[in-house]
Amino acid sequence: MKEKKENKKERKAKEKKIAKSKSIESTSTNKSNKCDDEKCPIHGKLSIRGRFFKGTVIKIFNQRVVIEFERLIYLKKYERFAKASTKLHAYLPKCMIGKINIGDIIKIGECRPLNKIVHFAVIEKIKEKKYKK
Ligand SMILES: [Zn+2]
Repeated sequence: MKEKKENKKERKAKEKKIAKSKSIESTSTNKSNKCDDEKCPIHGKLSIRGRFFKGTVIKIFNQRVVIEFERLIYLKKYERFAKASTKLHAYLPKCMIGKINIGDIIKIGECRPLNKIVHFAVIEKIKEKKYKK
């Protein structure tokens, strides 16, 4: 019985929190773009599992970014490492459109295949591009 009561309390608290957040959203709606994106890893249902990568944004499309990062490959014949670059396409959720620019360093995580070339989603921005004066 005690557990049930606690559960109810928790639910009520959650509902209150949701109501509060909704009220906040309704008060400051117009400028901040709402996130009703189902494929958003933070607000939506898309689950992130598997591998994570950090990389530099080199291209931005409508709902997709391309990141590039370098990795090292060992060449047995020369007993040395060679650099190779990897490009990955990642889904850009609605709440991040406009916040990510070319040159930024971002983190992406693996999700289910969203289309032929996209099976990663943008999670967060780590660093903004440094502009040299
Ligand atoms: Zn979102």
